[in-house]
Formats: sequence, structure tokens, C-alpha cells
Amino acid sequence: MLWEQKVKNHFPDSHAEIHLGTILNNLRTIHKRAGTEKVFAVVKCDAYRHGAVRVSRHIEDAADWFGVASVDEGIQLRMGGLKKPILVFNVPGYDTAAAYHTHNLTATVSHKTHFDTLMDGTRYQLNFDTGMGRFGFMPEDAADVRQLAVMNQRLSCSGIYSHYATADDPGSDFVRKQYERFSNITELFKEIPLRHMSNTGAVANYDIGHFNMVRTGVGMLGYNSGEKRYDWLKPALTWKTRIVQIRKIKKETPVSYSSTWKAPQEGYLATIPVGYGDGIPRSLSNKLKVWIDGELYPQVGNVTMDNIMVFLGEKQLPAETEVTLLGGEGWNAHDWAEKAGTNVHEILTNITGRVEKIYGES
Ligand SMILES: *Cc1c(COP(=O)(O)O)cnc(C)c1O
Repeated sequence: MLWEQKVKNHFPDSHAEIHLGTILNNLRTIHKRAGTEKVFAVVKCDAYRHGAVRVSRHIEDAADWFGVASVDEGIQLRMGGLKKPILVFNVPGYDTAAAYHTHNLTATVSHKTHFDTLMDGTRYQLNFDTGMGRFGFMPEDAADVRQLAVMNQRLSCSGIYSHYATADDPGSDFVRKQYERFSNITELFKEIPLRHMSNTGAVANYDIGHFNMVRTGVGMLGYNSGEKRYDWLKPALTWKTRIVQIRKIKKETPVSYSSTWKAPQEGYLATIPVGYGDGIPRSLSNKLKVWIDGELYPQVGNVTMDNIMVFLGEKQLPAETEVTLLGGEGWNAHDWAEKAGTNVHEILTNITGRVEKIYGES
């Protein structure tokens, strides 16, 4: 694998290897499974910390649209050279109205005041709340919204969309209900070219229609959004570090804050320079396992801000031995999410700026 050569002028304690080719393959796989005309890459929160500009530039030819949460995230993509259309999910305001126009960002109109807020010539898409309860027009207001869109010819509408609340869970009747609600709304907006609703979970877990575009974030990075795992998605990020110190400890030696763990036997304890300040949830204390020299070893004691400790038993390894924390042959983000009681999205977005990102084409 060809990783970029880096000039050593700083010394990160851990790094994430990000496989851009894997992201591209995942995107194509999801697009194909959805059977939609178009595909929309969700790269909010710095592409779930995979690096929005690098990831977007790599998949730019394969994606029709890009999506971000905020205007700032959209500007970052434009500054990084992205040319494709970018939709901003969050609400526009008077402070951001000019930026949509200047940076050619498509706004989400999800309230009637937004028609007045945006500047002449701004592009937008309409968002309907079919059950997410976050933002969007209510389905019963669809006819009035249509009227407002027709009256506001100074703005240009390219699509309508909605968002599933329960698509992570494969057996939800509510998905079908939301699908029906959105289908009915689309009948009123036949001349609007783009209609989209499905996220990764809707494509992976449901055999339903996906209108003419599918939006994927976590799927592109190699994970389904719920508990169900699919081997046709390949995780794109491997987080690695190394052992910085190894010591022999006696039976009953307590380890870390609050002494929640004591050595069951004499053995070797490795200190590894990543903690919750890097993105290892403290709730994984005494639950996490990491991959070292061909085996999984238990992380022991409480996760600290900057370090974790791993008990190697009788195995003695030299300092500098490589450790795989997440992905690769170690536990993946599904394993972390399950043990931490959260979702894959949160595990990935928890990875902080301390972790150096290194990109590979494969
Ligand atoms: C985050 C988000 C998505 C992507 O969801 P994934 O589960 O990552 O595929 C799609 N649409 C909207 C509106 C979002 O906010």
C-alpha cells in the first residue's frame, strides 16, 4: 500500500489510515443496491472525521451531490476545490444568507420564514418532516409550501427531501409509514427533479423504493448504521498506535483511576498513548480489546485522557510494538459501539484532531 510520505515536523501518538479506494467502492456498492439514478455523499462533521475535503475530492466523480450540516462545512469544501452541488442540512439565517450565495451552497428551506431569509438567486431544496421530528414542513402543509415556492421565483428549487427516524432498525413499520407520507408529498411537486429520503440504514435494511437519489454517510465509510452488520460494506479507517512502555506487575497490582482493575496474576502491562482525549470512550473502560502482534488483549482499568493500559499476561513485547485500536484486524466501530452502548456514527465522530490522518489510494 502506498501511504503518503510525511515530513516529520510533529509527532502524533496515533494515526488513522484512511483507504480512499474503499470509500469509493462502498459508495458505488450502496448506489447500486439502492438502484437510484443519483447518489448523495454525506460528509458532515469532517466526513465523520475521515477528512471531508480529501474524501470528497476522491469520490467527486462518483457522487452527484454532497451534504454537510452547516454553512462552515460547505465553505470548507468549496475552499478545498469541490465543484459538485452541496446541500446544507441545517437552517439558514440572516447571518448565513449571503454565504449560501457567495459559495454556491444549496440551502434547506424547512420553514416559511426561510423563503424571505435567502438572497435572490439562491438555490434550495425543501425539507419535509415525515416523522423525524427535527425540522421540515409538516406533510399537511405541502400545498401551502408549494404555493410559497411558486411565489418565490427569485429563488431556485432543485429538490425535495425527508429523513427516516427508524431506518437503523430492520423491523420498523414506521419506515413504511414515512415512505408513504413522502410519496404523497412528491405527487404535489412533480416538476421538481430531485426527491430523496433514504440514508444508509434504509438501503441496507429495507426493501423499499428510494425515490431518485440515496444519501449515504456511514455506509460509504464501511458501516451499516444499526446493529446489523453487512460484509459488503468495508470499513475504510484503521486507527493504529504503539506500545510506549511495558512493565512487569505483580498479582493484585491496581491499575488506573479508581483502581477498578487489579492484576489477576503476575504479568506484563503495556501503556498505550491514547485515551478519551483522542476518542476512546471512557465508557469502554475494562471492556475494550485491542489487537497486538496477532492477538486481542484486554484494556484494563479506567480509560484516562491520554493513555490506556493493556494487560498482556505472560507475553512480553518490546516498546514500539504496533497496536491496532480500531478497524483492520482489531475490533471495528460496530464492536466499539455495541460495547459502549452507542452508534457507529458517534464512535467515528469522537475521533479527535490529535489522531493524524494518513491517506492511501487503495
Ligand atoms: C447524517 C444524515 C444522513 C446520513 O446518514 P447515514 O446513517 O450516515 O447514512 C442522511 N441524511 C441526513 C439529513 C443526515 O443528517
